[in-house]
Amino acid sequence: MFDIVIVGLGPAGSTLARLLGEKYKIFCLDKRELIEKENIYNKMDKCCGGLISEDAQKSLKKLGLNIPNNIIACDKVSKLDVWDFENNLKTRYSKIFYNIDRYKFDKWLIDMIPKNVRIEYNSRFLQVEKQNDDMYKIKYRKGNEIEEITTKYLIGADGANSLVRKSILKSKEDAPKYIAIQNWYKNTSNLDIQVSIIDKEITDFYSWIISKGKYILVGSALKVGQDSHLKFEKLIDKIKEDGFKIDDDTFIKKQGMHIRRPVNPTKDICLGDGNTFLIGEAAGLISPSSAEGYSYAFDSAMALSKGLRQSEYSRNIKKIRLRIWFANNIKSILTYNDFLRKMFIRSGLKV
Ligand SMILES: Cc1cc2nc3c(=O)[nH]c(=O)nc-3n(C[C@H](O)[C@H](O)[C@H](O)COP(=O)(O)OP(=O)(O)OC[C@H]3O[C@@H](n4cnc5c(N)ncnc54)[C@H](O)[C@@H]3O)c2cc1C
Repeated sequence: MFDIVIVGLGPAGSTLARLLGEKYKIFCLDKRELIEKENIYNKMDKCCGGLISEDAQKSLKKLGLNIPNNIIACDKVSKLDVWDFENNLKTRYSKIFYNIDRYKFDKWLIDMIPKNVRIEYNSRFLQVEKQNDDMYKIKYRKGNEIEEITTKYLIGADGANSLVRKSILKSKEDAPKYIAIQNWYKNTSNLDIQVSIIDKEITDFYSWIISKGKYILVGSALKVGQDSHLKFEKLIDKIKEDGFKIDDDTFIKKQGMHIRRPVNPTKDICLGDGNTFLIGEAAGLISPSSAEGYSYAFDSAMALSKGLRQSEYSRNIKKIRLRIWFANNIKSILTYNDFLRKMFIRSGLKV
């Protein structure tokens, strides 16, 4: 029997486990194996750009953490290019990102969890049942075995496709679902480039090119069910036509992952119910304009660590909701309105 069960050890779950690990008896489970790997072909790895934004850097500072050198994938990024294929415009912003190896980043955060916290890898959360005595019975699969544990609090930190979230949502309606598709290529020309691509013919979200040391990542967040794979191929063609060299012979792997885009901060963010709480992407906390998610994962874990009560958590998360509202109503409008974007890019301003 545990005080808290945390499902998912991405940035949100591992941060909460670290912050509460010495106060409570905690059990964490993650479906990933999270063992040191020799190659980059692990299907369970999170599909991610691995850029630590200025907001996420501030959150890490609040947590008292400095990014260690061994998780950096390549030099600090100091510029972000925006390619606006619709208006045929290109511009460059100066922004500081850390460019990290996502797997090592997750391992670094997990390694800081206090040793008394029990962690089970390769363990998939299956379902939760409320008991009469205000306890939850949790079922999970480890290998071929189904295991059961009981807990007072359940935390869903299980990302965009959160099963914990599904178990508490009353209606089937949820935030719009996108699929992020990302191709990895060898970085044969040693390019140092970070590009955000805006083109409504491909997606009403955005696409990107990120160099990551030995690799180049080309990705896009596409609406589910709208020929997403064909549109992704079209994106690759458009990038090539624009003069950027993508050598198909250097293709390494394709990744895919869902993103829930919180276009309505009231409806699309779900913080939990009773003694079940959601943090990070499971709660719908991710930027609806850029898909930046680390700062939201860290900030929601910090907010929940201050008190395991819905009213308190909701109060502590007000600023985060406001940021999502801002990203949706100001940044998104500037990004997705052709005329305003053209004016904005030409003005040289930045948000
Ligand atoms: C293509 C793409 C690119 C991105 N690029 C960036 C970027 O450059 N910068 C940035 O800040 N953000 C980026 N994001 C967003 C960022 O990756 C997420 O917001 C962040 O990882 C959320 O952290 P989390 O801990 O909430 O969830 P996750 O990182 O998704 O972690 C969830 C964890 O739960 C586990 N899990 C899931 N289901 C179960 C289950 N049933 N049982 C047990 N375990 C389970 C998973 O294995 C995983 O470890 C990107 C997202 C995508 C899709």
